[in-house]
Amino acid sequence: MPPERFEEVLEAPQWQMLDEANRVARDMFLGRTVWNVNSTAVGGGVAEMLQSLLAYARGAGVETRWLVIEGEPEFFALTKRLHHHLHGSSGDGGPLGTAEHELYERVTNANADAMRELVRPGDIVLLHDPQTAGMARGLEGTGAHLLWRSHIGLDTPNAAVRAAWEFLLPYVTRAEAFIFTRRVYVPPQLADADVSIIPPSIDVFSQKNQAMTEAQVLSILMTTGILEGTPPGEPTYTHHDGRSDHVRRRAVMDEEVRLTAEDPLVVQVSRWDPLKDPVGVMRGFADHVAPLDPRARLLLAGPSPEGVTDDPEGALVLEQVRAARLALPGDIRARVHLASLPMNDRSENAAIVNAVQRHATVIVQKSLAEGFGLTVAEAMWKRRAVVAPRLGGIDDQIQDGVNGVLLDDPSDLAAFGAAVVGLLEDPRRAALIGDAAHERVRSQFLGSRHLIQYLALFGRLVRSDGHHH
Ligand code: UDP
Repeated sequence: MPPERFEEVLEAPQWQMLDEANRVARDMFLGRTVWNVNSTAVGGGVAEMLQSLLAYARGAGVETRWLVIEGEPEFFALTKRLHHHLHGSSGDGGPLGTAEHELYERVTNANADAMRELVRPGDIVLLHDPQTAGMARGLEGTGAHLLWRSHIGLDTPNAAVRAAWEFLLPYVTRAEAFIFTRRVYVPPQLADADVSIIPPSIDVFSQKNQAMTEAQVLSILMTTGILEGTPPGEPTYTHHDGRSDHVRRRAVMDEEVRLTAEDPLVVQVSRWDPLKDPVGVMRGFADHVAPLDPRARLLLAGPSPEGVTDDPEGALVLEQVRAARLALPGDIRARVHLASLPMNDRSENAAIVNAVQRHATVIVQKSLAEGFGLTVAEAMWKRRAVVAPRLGGIDDQIQDGVNGVLLDDPSDLAAFGAAVVGLLEDPRRAALIGDAAHERVRSQFLGSRHLIQYLALFGRLVRSDGHHH
């Protein structure tokens, strides 16, 4: 994708900086390849970010490539266990012992062997997350710069986190440099290593974030059945290659009455996961928002679990949310809506999420833990006022009272309700916060900032090479 696209969303000095960085990058990486290695081509924030950053780097003339590792189910069960540990829980409760090291080394060595044939001296190899860390060992001696990036972390590490690091450190320490999302996610063993802090970014041209007219938003929401009414136009969105497409599928709604376009709407969009606390959001709304604001309604939107085979927990949690909704008093239950969004087509799903976020009066993300919280940046870009707890990456995104509202304690439902009601009752303040939120994302959380940080780091590493022009 042409990096010139950024010109329309960046301030002039920002665009000049990116344009200059791209020129520097073209020269600096001449004859070199930047390799990204991760464990999946689709699904999840890392794959989504790679797709967009890779396209812009290639558009800028830098030879950037992306490899996905292969492994048997036992390997991915082990790496999922490591993933859960880094989030502070023991996952499936299985061990991290000698047999697991053997399995991990066998698979990562096989992948590194395959990759050795492609990598040349002076290349940059960026290994993403625990699944690929073991490859650093097998890639030693290729003359490439080896980097490892962790996209996950916990504010206050516990025993599970320490166990994961104990497992991973012998592998990751083979890398020359490291990237983390937040400083507090860096394990003490890497305190003196070459560590860069690079937070994630959103792609503002993607189906998830691209600009939409009011008519597009309403048409998409009416076509999916989230809002009542006849679509005022076509439910269109645009693919990356410029092709226009339509939202066709309907969301599965749990509700008594349909939402209308005029209802003031509190929205949370997330996977059906206990750490997103959907039941807490509902209770907070029922006890501390609905009684104070007679018009407000709540919409919880998440992926339809049908067909999403890799997330059996999602279906279970959605059932719990449905049960909690049915247990609400009738008059309040009538104001709480659940939307399971079709997942058959990722682009269509993203366009629906986009429309839902743009239509919300107030967006909440009342997570109990959050590595970064992409939904927060997505909502802020859409000029929404976001209410969210002061934890994880949310604390890096929202400045309380300036470009969002932070809660000190995610379990304090009264404070949650008061923050939401405060914004519902003061649309002028909500709009000012929303505008500031958009500026915050523009300056901090776009792909342009991400690419410039990568260039600074990679540039520092390749400048130390003697054997390259
Ligand atoms: N999301 C989506 N469809 C849904 C629900 C969520 O595409 O039905 C997206 C959401 O827009 C965001 C991502 O899933 O881009 C979730 O990332 P986040 O960092 O907020 O949380 P995670 O799910 O990684 O814990």
